[in-house]
Amino acid sequence: MIYRITTLILLAFAILFFALHWANLVDSVSSKFTQPNLSNKHIKREAIASLALDNDKYNPIFENQYYKVEDERNTEIKQKKIEVGKLNNESKSEFNGIKNPLVLDKTKMIFEEPSLKDTWKRNSVQIGEATNSPKIAIVIDDAGVDKKRTAAVIQLQPPITIAFLTYASELKKQVRSAKKAGHEIIVHMAMEPESKNIDPGPNVLLIKSGSKEILDQLRWGLNRFNGYVGINNHMGSRFTSDPNGMGIVMRELKRRGLLFLDSRTSKNTVGASMALAYDVPYTQRDFFLDNDNSLGAINRQLGKIESFAKKNGYAVAIGHPKDATLKALSQWLKTLKERGFSQMPISQLVKVQNNIFPPN
Ligand SMILES: [Zn+2]
Repeated sequence: MIYRITTLILLAFAILFFALHWANLVDSVSSKFTQPNLSNKHIKREAIASLALDNDKYNPIFENQYYKVEDERNTEIKQKKIEVGKLNNESKSEFNGIKNPLVLDKTKMIFEEPSLKDTWKRNSVQIGEATNSPKIAIVIDDAGVDKKRTAAVIQLQPPITIAFLTYASELKKQVRSAKKAGHEIIVHMAMEPESKNIDPGPNVLLIKSGSKEILDQLRWGLNRFNGYVGINNHMGSRFTSDPNGMGIVMRELKRRGLLFLDSRTSKNTVGASMALAYDVPYTQRDFFLDNDNSLGAINRQLGKIESFAKKNGYAVAIGHPKDATLKALSQWLKTLKERGFSQMPISQLVKVQNNIFPPN
């Protein structure tokens, strides 16, 4: 009797074991068929791309966006595109939250000037051997207008990334001396802020301007000097949250082979998704150094930047040509390497974050 009960219990365990194992097996087999075969990098990019798809209403300026999404995604998404096209032809209704879905056969390609391809790489500061130590990029905005403080920024240990305002005078001369000292250069493009009480300066990119006017302003700024790797936004909490305006900016950056550093002056910025859609090399600010510009507060920010870089592998911090910022940075930079960090230009962080190898 006891023998039979023991056998039954053992049998029950065996059945349970096989049932659980089978469930696992079925699960793993079926997930092989349903999971798209994408690397981590692709999954991340796909997530941002779908954000771009869902948030932006159809507009001719976004036409190539859908092409880019198709490039980045697997066949699943291609099927979705075909459905979008079909729906558009038949009912012109909504698809997946996209109003007026795209007519596929009218899509434009992203235009890239062959002679300007990868201008950002050509104009980047070349750094020595790449190491595994945490990488920190320091960007100083609003350069060029105050010549004395800009000269003091240039005195900092290189490479700093210096963002020159387009409406400063003697720009070419200042940029030349910054480059000679080993710094990297970006254009600090004035964009419309949310608040009407802040003056972003002349030649600012405004949402209410027409597409041609935005492009003209942008080109005026980009033609003020040479030798830069890309742009970041001066202010722009309103402009950077507008997909239409940012689409114009990204299209021009792509055409010129430039990168975009999002200063992230608004949590609603569409910088990441639009850069992805237009295949523009991208990174973003992690910290502002001197929102509180007392020496103590800046030093505390520098401490936070170090912890962030240790945890994530890199950090991007933006500061301004203020006396306390310059003082804090000149001390801090001296011992940065001893403390195990690599001081990097912004282009290098773009390469690392976008898995562009070799990063040098
Ligand atoms: Zn600024």
